[in-house]
Amino acid sequence: MAPSKTLFCVPSVAKTPDEMAGDMAAAALIGADVVELRLDCLSSFQPRSDLERLLTNRPLPAIVTYRPKWEGGEYDGDDETRLEVLLLAVQLGADYVDVEFKVAEKFLNLISGKKPENVKLIISSHNYEMTPSVEELGNLAASIQSLDADIVKIVTTANDISDVSRMFQLIVHSQEKQVPIIGLVMKERGIISRVLCPKFGGYLTFGALNKGKESAPGQITGSELLNVYRIREIGPDTKVFGIIGKPVGHSKSPNLHNEAFRSVGFNAVYVPYLVDDLSSFLNTYSSPDFAGFSCTIPHKEAAVTCCDEVDPIAKAIGAVNTIIRRPSDGKLIGYNTDYVGAISAIEDGIAGYRVKDAAVSPLAGRLFVVIGAGGAGKALAYGAKAKGAKVIIANRTYERAKELANLIGGHALTLAELENYHPEEGMILANTTSIGMHPNVNDTPLSKQALKHYAVVFDAVYTPKVTRLLREAGESGANVVSGLEMFIRQAMGQFELFTGLTAPESLMRDIVMRST
Ligand code: NAP
Repeated sequence: MAPSKTLFCVPSVAKTPDEMAGDMAAAALIGADVVELRLDCLSSFQPRSDLERLLTNRPLPAIVTYRPKWEGGEYDGDDETRLEVLLLAVQLGADYVDVEFKVAEKFLNLISGKKPENVKLIISSHNYEMTPSVEELGNLAASIQSLDADIVKIVTTANDISDVSRMFQLIVHSQEKQVPIIGLVMKERGIISRVLCPKFGGYLTFGALNKGKESAPGQITGSELLNVYRIREIGPDTKVFGIIGKPVGHSKSPNLHNEAFRSVGFNAVYVPYLVDDLSSFLNTYSSPDFAGFSCTIPHKEAAVTCCDEVDPIAKAIGAVNTIIRRPSDGKLIGYNTDYVGAISAIEDGIAGYRVKDAAVSPLAGRLFVVIGAGGAGKALAYGAKAKGAKVIIANRTYERAKELANLIGGHALTLAELENYHPEEGMILANTTSIGMHPNVNDTPLSKQALKHYAVVFDAVYTPKVTRLLREAGESGANVVSGLEMFIRQAMGQFELFTGLTAPESLMRDIVMRST
């Protein structure tokens, strides 16, 4: 039997019945399948008249929930009164009534013989501390199911992103037994449970009407579910990609890659992974479904040791920003597209040069100064060296500059020495420190005076788009190359590794420009 489509439900946590009626209408407008009426959030509530009015004119099927404090809700009265209200919802023909597992038997006695066929009973259990083992989750689901729940609902908390995989296992297992289940994991590390439940066969996922109207920690908005992650198009065969980082919530990569996938009809979704321990994450999500990953701070270095094979340049740089699961044997292969992105952007920035037409890089033989010796600095230094440039590293911590220079066969300088360093004209400069990044937009790594010796200046910083360094370099007559170019090109490289298709360059440029 083909799994039925996961429903998209908007919860209303409105304070007044009028506001709740407004939320229902708004939920219908954004394309929700179901709305959840969280009666416990209402500050004034006349059960019979309010519930009757809300249910009579509902534009969507409704779940009626009256969550008590002891299960994470707002209601702090007695259970008898609360369960009577849920009975009323049953009698008024609510499409679904949600009752907590701990009082489910009591409620079943109350409604015995009074529940119309078309009212579905959701029996729910919430764990605000952690996610139990697969076995414990299975036992809990079986106990809930044994009470004749129409839908089992188990919601737990992610303390580590690996916790979510146990929920996915529970959902798959329940699907096999044809038990409808809502299985979600709260908090930021659990976001993937909300996006990927259509892949594994969850009965329903929740998306807030707007930011600030969430009914649970980690809930994202309905608009993100529908428009960024396109949950309507996710199915069992959808491949999963994502960005591994900590923090990762600010990343623009999900917007960029999901829209790019859609534009070429690639059946895949791209999610944020808030990861604490890279090795444990990769061991947990080791099935072919999890087809590839982007890596960002602070996991790029650890990714080198976590991959089964690493591209020689990524290995030399000591950083992997892209991991692909090879379909033939499931092995993880690491790449670095940061380096290609930055170097090709600088090559293109050299006047009159077209990378694709040239046999020799225009960097060959040029003096190439890298400021910074961190992850980006290493990528730029290795890249420039590989293209035949003479590389100079200048860094705040001179020892790190020296170390990198020794590794790649270049020379090291202090930042102070760099100010008066101009053995030749027409040099190339790459800033790979965060100097000049928002909010410190008046900072710059090199004086305007010193910039006149450079023909090309690149800045890895891309917030703001035009840094003080780039502005002054432009005024001094240099060709300038923005960090956004590096960002776009590293993402295009990732897209091509993920899909095997040519990246939709103009679309990706548009998306990045729109979001910065
Ligand atoms: P990282 O590994 O932490 O390295 C930071 C480097 O900047 C180090 O060399 C550090 O010097 C230097 N630095 C930091 N603050 C400084 C200051 N106030 N004065 C002087 N030097 C300073 O970071 P990363 O991953 O290489 O990233 C560096 C920058 O590149 C960030 O702004 C990042 O956003 C940007 N980046 C952009 C892209 C893109 O696509 N455009 C990609 C990757 C990175 P010490 O060694 O003395 O600490």
